[in-house]
Amino acid sequence: MNGLMMQQPLLISSLLVHAERHHGAQEIVSRRTEGDLHRYTFRELARRARRMAKAIQALGVGQGDRVATLAWNGYRHLELYYAVSGSGAVLHTLNPRLHPDQLGWIVANAEDRVLCFDQTFLPLVEKVAPLLKSVQHVVLLCDRTHMPARCSIPNLLCYEDLIDAHSDDYAWPQLDENLASSLCYTSGTTGNPKGVLYSHRSTVLHTYASALPDALNLSSRDTVLPVVPMFHVNAWGLPYAACMVGAKVVFPGAQLDGASLHELFESERVTVSAGVPTVWQGLLTHVEAHGLNFSTMRRTVIGGSACSPAMIRSFEEQYRVQVLHAWGMTELSPLGTVCILQPKHAELPVDAQLQVQAKQGQSLFGIDMKIVDAHGQELPWDGQASGELLVRGHWVAQSYFRGEGGDPLVDGWFPTGDVSTIDADGYMQITDRAKDVIKSGGEWIGSIDIENIAMACPGVAMAACIGVKHPKWDERPLLVVVPKPGAQLGKAEVLGFLSGKIAKWWTPDDVVFVDAIPLGATGKMLKHKLRESFKDYLMPAA
Ligand code: ADP
Repeated sequence: MNGLMMQQPLLISSLLVHAERHHGAQEIVSRRTEGDLHRYTFRELARRARRMAKAIQALGVGQGDRVATLAWNGYRHLELYYAVSGSGAVLHTLNPRLHPDQLGWIVANAEDRVLCFDQTFLPLVEKVAPLLKSVQHVVLLCDRTHMPARCSIPNLLCYEDLIDAHSDDYAWPQLDENLASSLCYTSGTTGNPKGVLYSHRSTVLHTYASALPDALNLSSRDTVLPVVPMFHVNAWGLPYAACMVGAKVVFPGAQLDGASLHELFESERVTVSAGVPTVWQGLLTHVEAHGLNFSTMRRTVIGGSACSPAMIRSFEEQYRVQVLHAWGMTELSPLGTVCILQPKHAELPVDAQLQVQAKQGQSLFGIDMKIVDAHGQELPWDGQASGELLVRGHWVAQSYFRGEGGDPLVDGWFPTGDVSTIDADGYMQITDRAKDVIKSGGEWIGSIDIENIAMACPGVAMAACIGVKHPKWDERPLLVVVPKPGAQLGKAEVLGFLSGKIAKWWTPDDVVFVDAIPLGATGKMLKHKLRESFKDYLMPAA
């Protein structure tokens, strides 16, 4: 017997319809590439998104066609999020920090038909233009007065002209919820980028789960500032979640330095934010150097790479900002786990609480996970056994765009390439990426653990631990450290700080100091580049 309830498809457009009807007056504030602060409401967002939906259809974009964006976090980008997916086309967010050849390759692979970009990226688009064979229309996200007098792109369209040419008399189509809605390529830190094709259904379910109290805990009382770019796994779903809950949104545009972010946090009374650790490092350095604080910020989501206990301590003890340590990946839309302390943890000493918060946390409803050994046998949840993390759920990729790389699943589970433990309470902790694990004398050394401890050493701004070839042990750990400005830091201080906090045989054989650690397009440390730089490094004799 079937239930007797309505069947309504889970559509991205329904998030916007809800925001317009129920939170119409809620504000969206954007720092624009034009240099000013733009303000409008969900009501205006919805109207302009409908006009844009008509405009892209008038350009000949049909169901399933890909529309690419090269844009910062801002209201026009948000309009495209809804206009493109809502009308049945596929929104393809491109990462402008990729190498131009890689961008060209991705656009060709996706067969994007339209490319919309922010002014900042005009030189980049001019450079890659010869590679954009599939692209029929190129749209600059600005008004007529900001269009360039001269540029090498033929028939460059103006976004505001397209909006002006259409009315908002448009009804969102009632699509099949399983249709593709958006496309993101993995950032390629592990090989050629592969396209992950989300559906309306997977996106809406991810949105529901991400907003829950034990996840990002979002509500209409929040003001959300996504620092994580809308070109990095849909800004972790925040552009959708904000509409679902009716939260005020503040977009930082291109200015992601500590000073600009802090100013916006304060002036717009931001309560929650999200970004990768390297961005927060910049913000904390600024706030510390200028003796500032956060008067309205209540929590921040930190993920994309491991957040060290030292950073969590700074945010929570010095600034009273709760850290939500989260784990995810492009293939998971991206959220998989979030770390929130349970009441029983309140009794633990602060250091022990920080050890729990350094974990990536518990699964959201809708994601199941397990860890397996080299033979695929499931390992116990005892917080000790570590193995490859596998996941499955409503918003996990089952294959890549165009079948790239074959069938990735193992018995219906997606292998994440991460190595982790899971404790008896279900808190998962990433110890490494499989390819970053250091293999020493037949045993594994978890580089993240060492980095987390090194980050707490006074004078250390950033630390990466990599495996370097060793004649006897196969590999030994080398710690690469970026000192804080002005810090007088030597190898003995760093090793002394690690001493007693990790197993003796995990202790790095050497410490090298560098000005910077190479970061990838999404702000993560590029350990393969570091390994390449130090491949001939000779460890000092023990
Ligand atoms: P790519 O795989 O191309 O780097 P993603 O942005 O999808 O692109 O990265 C996902 C990976 O980032 C995860 O598989 C994991 O290795 C890492 N990651 C994400 N969040 C965390 C976290 N909180 N702690 C440690 N690693 C993380």
